[in-house]
Amino acid sequence: MNSYKGLQVHMSPLNLFRGSAFLGKIYLRRDIYQDFQNPNPKPITISLLEHEITHIKRSSSYGNIKYPLNYWCSNTFRLNEELAAIKAEMKVRKIHGEKFEIEKRAKYLSSYYYLWCIKFNTAKKELTKIWNSI
Ligand SMILES: [Zn+2]
Repeated sequence: MNSYKGLQVHMSPLNLFRGSAFLGKIYLRRDIYQDFQNPNPKPITISLLEHEITHIKRSSSYGNIKYPLNYWCSNTFRLNEELAAIKAEMKVRKIHGEKFEIEKRAKYLSSYYYLWCIKFNTAKKELTKIWNSI
C-alpha cells in the first residue's frame, strides 16, 4: 500500500523522524513504512499517518511555501500545528486502547527537534489536557 486516504506514502530517505510531510506527501521511517505494507498495520503506524495527514490538511489553506515558513519561523505556529497533529495521533491510540507516552513526547516537543517551542512542564500539561479531552 503506497497511499493513505488518497495521499502518497513514501519511505523516508532520512532516518531522523518517524514521519514527516512534505509537499502533500507523507514520508515514513523505514521500519514504520514496512509495517504500513502489512495488511493490518499497527495502531502506532496509523496514528503517525493521522499526525502527518493533519499537517497536510492544515497546510492546504496556507500553501506549500507559507506553511513551512510559518512552521519554522514561529514558535507559536509550530506548537499549535504540532498539538493539532498530536491530537489526531492520540485519537487513534485511544480508540485502540493504547497508552500515549506523554512525558516522552513532552520531552521531544520541548527539545531542539522542535526548536524549543515550549517548555517541558507546559508541554506535559498541554498534552495531558488533550489526552484527557478525547
Ligand atoms: Zn508534526
